[in-house]
Amino acid sequence: MKLSFHGADQDVTGSCHLVEAAGKRVLVDCGMFQGGREERAMNAHDFGFDPASIDLILLTHAHLDHCGRIPLLVKRGFRGEIVCTPPTRELARLVMLDAARLQEEDAHRSMRKAARWEPKGAEEQPLYDLEDAMAALDRFGRTVNYGETVEIAANLRATWSNAGHILGSASVLVECDESGVKKRIAFSGDLGDPGRALLDDAEPPRAADAVVMESTYGDRDHRPLSASIEEFYEAIAQIRARGGNAIIPTFALERAQELLFYLKLGLRQSKLPPDIQIFVDSPMAISATQIAQNCAGYLRPQIAAMIAAQDDPFTPPRLRFTKLSRDSMAINSIASGAVIMAGSGMATGGRVLHHLRHNLARPECGVVLVGFASKGTLARQIIDGARDVQIFGERVPVRASVHTINGFSAHAGRSSLIAWRGKVAAPKTFLVHGELPAMQALKDALPGDVSMPKIGEEATI
Ligand SMILES: [Zn+2]
Repeated sequence: MKLSFHGADQDVTGSCHLVEAAGKRVLVDCGMFQGGREERAMNAHDFGFDPASIDLILLTHAHLDHCGRIPLLVKRGFRGEIVCTPPTRELARLVMLDAARLQEEDAHRSMRKAARWEPKGAEEQPLYDLEDAMAALDRFGRTVNYGETVEIAANLRATWSNAGHILGSASVLVECDESGVKKRIAFSGDLGDPGRALLDDAEPPRAADAVVMESTYGDRDHRPLSASIEEFYEAIAQIRARGGNAIIPTFALERAQELLFYLKLGLRQSKLPPDIQIFVDSPMAISATQIAQNCAGYLRPQIAAMIAAQDDPFTPPRLRFTKLSRDSMAINSIASGAVIMAGSGMATGGRVLHHLRHNLARPECGVVLVGFASKGTLARQIIDGARDVQIFGERVPVRASVHTINGFSAHAGRSSLIAWRGKVAAPKTFLVHGELPAMQALKDALPGDVSMPKIGEEATI
C-alpha cells in the first residue's frame, strides 16, 4: 500500500490523504484549508495528484476541513464514489452547499471592491460555486454504519467505527490484499473525548500496520466537561439577573445541538432562570439539528430514547428556531432575557455579528464563548479582552461581560488521544491534523515509530 499526504500535515486544516492499493486510488477526506490568507490560497493549488485518477473518497466526517475541497475535486475531474456514514452524508451536503454560497458571496464582494479601487481585474474567483457543489452531491454513493466492513473495490475493504467527534464521525480502517499479502492502515479521523453528551465514546480499530492520527490537542487536556457546564449555566444566570441578553457564537454542527441539550437539562434541573427565551438563529444549525433528530441511531442510546419518547433532547422550553432573516431581525427588539445562539462560531461572519453589534456595548449583556477561536477572528479579539471591536465598519465598545468556557471541545485532549492510540495494535504512527508543538508533544508520548509527515510526503506500508 502506498500512502501520501496532501493536507493537514503539520497543520490543522485541509485533511487529505491518498492510499494507492489493489490497483485503486482512494482518498481519505478532501478538506479545505482554513485560516489566514496564506492557508486559504493553498486551496486553489494543485492537489498533488490528478483528481480524475481518484476512484473513491472515504469521508471520515462532515467538517469543512475534511470535506470542503470535494466540490473543487469534482470541478477538476473527480468522477468516483464518496462513501461515508448516513449522517456524514447529510451534514456534508449542508456544509458543501454553504461553503459554495459563502465563496460566491465573497467573490461578488471582492469584485465590487475591485471595480471601485482596482479597476484592472483584481477580483477573486470563487474556488467553486453552487453548481459545482451540486455536482459533488451526485458523487455520494454507498453509506456505511459503524462496525460495517464494505468491499470498496476488488481486494480492498474499509471498516467504519465511531470516532465520537461529531454526529456520524468515523475512524476508517482500510485493508487490502495484494499478491496474498494483507495490509491495513487505520485513519483516526478527528477524535472526541469520551463522555460527550450526545455521542457514544470512540471505538478504535483493533489492529493495523500503520495509524494515521489527529493530534490537535496532543499537548494538553481540556477542563472537565462538568465544570464547564456549570460555568455555562452560571454565565447565563448572571446575564439574566442583570437584565441583559446572552450572545453565544455557535458552531452549527454538534455544538449547537449540545448546547440545546444542556439548556434543556439546566432548565429541567432549575439551574437556569425559567423565563429565558432561547433562539437558534442559524439556518445551518437548524438543519443540523433536524439531521440529528432524524439520525437517532447515531446518538447515545439515552438520547435516542428521549427522541423516541417525544421528549426531544434539542427542544428546551421557550425555544425558537429563526430561519428567516426577518425573524432574525425581530430578535433585535428584545432587550432582556434572550439567549441567542448564532453563527459563525468564531464570529467571522453570519448573523451573530448583528447580535454582537446590538448587545456588545450594553454592560447588562454578555458574550458566552464556548468554542475554539483562531487568531485574528472577532471571537478571539473579544476573548483576548479587546476594549472595542470593528463590526460592519463601525467601532463597537465591548461593555458586555465576556465568559470564555473551555471544556466543550469536540476534539479529544492529550490523555484521550494517547488512550485511543494505545488500543490500536500497530507498529507505526503518522501524526497529522495538528500544529507542530502539539504534534511533537504527542510524538514524545507515543511508543514505536512515530513520524510527522510534511505535505507531499509518501510512505510504503
Ligand atoms: Zn472535525
